[in-house]
Amino acid sequence: MKPTNTILGEYGTTIFTVMSALAVEHKAINLGQGFPDTDGPADIRAAAERATQEGPNQYPPMMGLPELRQAAAAHNKAFYDLDLDWQTQSMVTSGATEALAACLFGLVEPGDEVVMIEPLYDCYLPILRRAGGVPKLVRIEPPHWELPYDALEEAFSDDTKLIMLNTPTNPAAKVYTKEELEFIAGLMEKYDAYAVCDEVYEHMTFDGKPHIPLITLPSMAERCIKIGSAGKTFSMTGWKVGYSVGAPKLIEAMAKAHQFLTFTTPPNLQKAVAYGLNKDKEYFGSLGIDMQAKRDRLSDGLANIGFEVMASEGTYFLTTDFRPLGFNGDDTKFCKHLTTEAGVAAVPFSPFYQAGAESGVTHFARFCFCKQNDLLDAAIERLGKHFGGV
Ligand code: PMP
Ligand code: GLN
Repeated sequence: MKPTNTILGEYGTTIFTVMSALAVEHKAINLGQGFPDTDGPADIRAAAERATQEGPNQYPPMMGLPELRQAAAAHNKAFYDLDLDWQTQSMVTSGATEALAACLFGLVEPGDEVVMIEPLYDCYLPILRRAGGVPKLVRIEPPHWELPYDALEEAFSDDTKLIMLNTPTNPAAKVYTKEELEFIAGLMEKYDAYAVCDEVYEHMTFDGKPHIPLITLPSMAERCIKIGSAGKTFSMTGWKVGYSVGAPKLIEAMAKAHQFLTFTTPPNLQKAVAYGLNKDKEYFGSLGIDMQAKRDRLSDGLANIGFEVMASEGTYFLTTDFRPLGFNGDDTKFCKHLTTEAGVAAVPFSPFYQAGAESGVTHFARFCFCKQNDLLDAAIERLGKHFGGV
């Protein structure tokens, strides 16, 4: 029999699915896959309910409901002072994941080079490779995850079509600085490249560190697409509503792919997300404040147990080095052991590298802290007991 697609066939089931299934099987507290354990703001859910009852429930416009496209443009004006024409510079997708796929399918020509920064979110490489693009990987290194300017410059060439930039970044929890963004912008201008900016955690930065969208830098408006996710911003990861803004030419290219991928996104959810994006600024500010307190709670607990906890400047996640605990085995073994023996699931770090277990980065476990305090405390207690009576 003929083989199925060989590029995608190389990949197993995502580590998030694998670890969540193991957590369910062993009744472990799931601090692996990134999702909140609350159900999102009641008023936004009520807006979706109303929109479902009142309709229409038929295909909405391919680019998204005007009210959501307008709300996405207005949100970017309110937070970043971006002047955007919603009709040509804003569109809706079924989650940020579809936006990423639409960008890569819409922009990349087979053989084009795309710069990506490891560790990276799991879908970037498979989608790019399936689109025929050639990844040029650069690593940020622990513990500070600073951008290596020389290596980045070496990764760019005249064949570079674009860079994928994720800030705040999953899993390293780094927030890019203005200086780093300026350096990236300089290379994009020098090599005539675009940027796909995955900013799904834009409202979750900590300790007063600002989130700076690359698109706000001088002359970047023509070169960037900025992707947001209702799943993250409204703590409802199952909703899968994404909103992107950017240069008209890039949005148009993205739409060419979107119309054949999903075509539209459920209209009831779009209406509710439009309502959500128009909320007062306090809502968005409180997201980061709440999440920072949870980061501190989990981070202190894990440090007391003996993990080396690395800085988390943003996102839902923190990275820990588990070597001080004296475990004999790599990150995948460690996270499986944690789930089955201690009753707490975490995610190994090596799947966030192209080389996986061969990456040389096999001593980190990622923990998710967007959970209620009781659950975080229960997880810390279980881990404390397991690793020796804390
Ligand atoms: N990018 C990053 C960095 C993520 O962590 C996620 C999270 N799940 C996504 C994209 C996908 O977002 P969505 O659920 O809206 O597709
Ligand atoms: N973004 C989530 C994480 O990093 C997972 C999303 C998924 O399961 N695909 O945990």
